[in-house]
Amino acid sequence: MDEIRIKQLEVFAHHGVFPEENRLGQKFVINAALRTSLRRAGLTDDLTQSMDYGAVCAEIQAFLTQNTFQLLETAAEKLCAHLLQTLPLLDSIVLEIEKPWAPIGLPLKTASVCIERGWHTAYIALGSNIGDSKGYLDGAVQALSNDETMRMDRVSDYIVTKPYGGIEQDDFLNAVLCLKTLLSPHELLERLHEIEQAAHRTREIHWGPRTLDLDILFYDEEIFSDEVLTIPHPEIPKRDFVLRPMAQIAPHFVHPVYHRTMTQLWEQLKNA
Ligand code: ADP
Ligand code: MG
Repeated sequence: MDEIRIKQLEVFAHHGVFPEENRLGQKFVINAALRTSLRRAGLTDDLTQSMDYGAVCAEIQAFLTQNTFQLLETAAEKLCAHLLQTLPLLDSIVLEIEKPWAPIGLPLKTASVCIERGWHTAYIALGSNIGDSKGYLDGAVQALSNDETMRMDRVSDYIVTKPYGGIEQDDFLNAVLCLKTLLSPHELLERLHEIEQAAHRTREIHWGPRTLDLDILFYDEEIFSDEVLTIPHPEIPKRDFVLRPMAQIAPHFVHPVYHRTMTQLWEQLKNA
């Protein structure tokens, strides 16, 4: 991935654990690598196709002087989130904040915190079969769209599906969506649980506990499993109500475990 690099930007600010640091202030030195494709800017010679590093430096300076944090970790974390949320072309960033005057009572050249943050692509499955199912799915799409740590990309059609097994219950309404997120997989799962809870809570007495189900299908191309989370979701190849909408919004997306596209997995399931 291409990068725009900012080296040794000096900012006088007030971050630190000691009260004197917050009162007197000191010098911070910022290094950043801003990742994005620079191809279009390179071919067109047009600044609007790139990121203006002068403006980015001014933004970093403003952010670090208008906020005061105890930890460099927090300053770096919040600054990364701020830049990723405000610069539409920025895919990911490596940010280092140095504190060359760190008051540790020993001669040192500099101490720093360096982190890498970026947008990740997640596919999420939505399902509901109690109450106002369309309302619950709409509510979930809205909640995710309004979240500043997410950028909604595509939402599939809502499809009516028959429940599996012999249990007598209403038809399901299912959909999948694709979004970009700044959250880690576990943070994303927690956020989905909060949205599920909010839907459950409002109708708990009338409709019972399964008004809304939100599952993570894919997170980038990651393959991962622990006690609370398995990615990709293990049931994908068996579920028509996931593969059908996935084949609509991401027909060519390749399952990182089975190495088949969504269309191929759906065809495979239909012919099974
Ligand atoms: P289900 O989705 O199977 O109908 P739940 O929504 O109650 O049932 O999920 C049960 C648990 O499955 C969740 O609490 C979560 O910890 C776990 N889980 C494991 N992998 C995933 C995933 N990829 N997406 C969502 N939940 C998952
Ligand atoms: Mg679930």
